[in-house]
Amino acid sequence: MPTCNKCNRRPVVFNRIYSGEVLCKSCFIHSIEKKTLHTISKYSMIHHGQRVAVGVSGGKDSLVLLYILKKFQKITIMILSQSQSMKELKATEMNLLP
Ligand SMILES: [Zn+2]
Repeated sequence: MPTCNKCNRRPVVFNRIYSGEVLCKSCFIHSIEKKTLHTISKYSMIHHGQRVAVGVSGGKDSLVLLYILKKFQKITIMILSQSQSMKELKATEMNLLP
C-alpha cells in the first residue's frame, strides 16, 4: 500500500495531481488548512477582530472554509445561508472572539 509522501507513515487517501503529492488524511487536512490561511494572509483578506460574512451553501467548500475560519481566526463570523425555499437569505452571527 502506498504511503503519504509528507509523513511517510500513513496510507494515501488523496492524490494532488498538479503537484504529484500523495497525502494521508492527516497531512491532507493540514495542507488544506495551510493553503487557506496562506491565501488569506497573502491577499490580506481578513484581520483579527473583523466581522466577516461567509456565504454557506452546505457544500464541502463553504463548510471547510467556515471550519478553518472558526479554528484559526479571531473574528466574528456572519453566516449567510439560503432557506430551503431559496427565497430568503438568513444571517446568523457567530462570535468567535475569546
Ligand atoms: Zn501523511
